[in-house]
Amino acid sequence: MKHKVLLTALIIFLGSVSGVISVDTFEKTIANIQTGMYNAAGVFFVDSITVSSLHANYKNADKVSVDVNGQKVSDKIKILIVPGHEPNYGGTEYRNLKERDIVVDIADNLATILRTNPRYEVIVARDKNGWNPILDEYFSREWENILEWKEKYKAEMIRLVGQGLVKIHTEGVEHNSAPNDVARRLYGINKWTVENNVDIALHLHINDNPRSNTRNPGKYSGFTIYVPERQYSNAKATGAVADTVSRRLSKYFATSNLPQESDGIVEDQELVAIGRHNTVDAVSMLIEYGYIYEPQYEEKDIRDLIVKEYALSTYLGIQDFFGAPNAKIDGADSFLLSQKLTHGGPTDILAVQFILAHKGYYPPSGKTKNECGMTGILGPCTLTALQKFQHDQGISDETGRVGEKTQKALYTVTSIQ
Ligand SMILES: [Zn+2]
Repeated sequence: MKHKVLLTALIIFLGSVSGVISVDTFEKTIANIQTGMYNAAGVFFVDSITVSSLHANYKNADKVSVDVNGQKVSDKIKILIVPGHEPNYGGTEYRNLKERDIVVDIADNLATILRTNPRYEVIVARDKNGWNPILDEYFSREWENILEWKEKYKAEMIRLVGQGLVKIHTEGVEHNSAPNDVARRLYGINKWTVENNVDIALHLHINDNPRSNTRNPGKYSGFTIYVPERQYSNAKATGAVADTVSRRLSKYFATSNLPQESDGIVEDQELVAIGRHNTVDAVSMLIEYGYIYEPQYEEKDIRDLIVKEYALSTYLGIQDFFGAPNAKIDGADSFLLSQKLTHGGPTDILAVQFILAHKGYYPPSGKTKNECGMTGILGPCTLTALQKFQHDQGISDETGRVGEKTQKALYTVTSIQ
């Protein structure tokens, strides 16, 4: 569930918007405007990060240089992973599940995979008990400065909006508002990413949908990636990374069927995490991996496997962005493709669902990924897909169950790539 500061009156809203362009750039741009060189809003938000600079940095990320003081400086791509919400509160909950804990599990798995790649330097913002000491110390030390920093850009943005050079986009998905101190920590993270030259910030969340009885599941499912609205400085590069991450996630997972999210990637101007007020230079996206009441989160065994798959798909999406040829781990795009079946329990069913999906049989034809998700539950979706697979393989005596022949066919090595 996302947090942003919701403001009701337009006048207050306008008064709260800010930009992140440097004073130099700002004055240059103003000068250009005054000389009539530019008249479009976009020019104010000079790209803070570009696809080509990221690509170039990735190529050189295995080199270590020495700075003027003789210190070794790594040129790694810096990735900050922010599990959504606070260590001990906030985020959506469903029955015994807490979003703020699930996202830490995704973050830890993602960090582990990213760290297998020597070109990345990975920082995780918090665990289940507290903030990363680096950020904790930063929040204490910078608490007043964070506000001042935000306020400074506010003043600039008021002018831009006032001159009609930046358009306000308020339509879209309504988000819960963040309490002041939570919002300030999010701005603090933004400020920290700017000061520490973070290249990519990934904010991880699990979605929820308002409904009358929150003991029961809601009707929407699937993932969505929130990206900065296109006028922002980090929008283009973020969009490019979000595209490849979304493509990887959508191989196995449903895209949100909430109408406003159905494109899979949604631009947003107001989410603090991805740079409200243009406060982020880095590529910054907020991934809602699914809705908390979806069945795959219910059982711990299944949830743990799903969380790993989310992490792997996210990693592979980032690799795709960098055009890295060795993107696949163990030759597969899912850990479950090589999972050995045991007793036919839920984790086996989940593995069969992934293998069938990989082979194009799941979801069965006529069904969507929202209707037939990766659940570990044996139901009509899995049975229909399995029967079609068995039919195509000429297996007639194991209908509806995974016998020896079916298993052999499922694990045909050549088809897993
Ligand atoms: Zn959230």
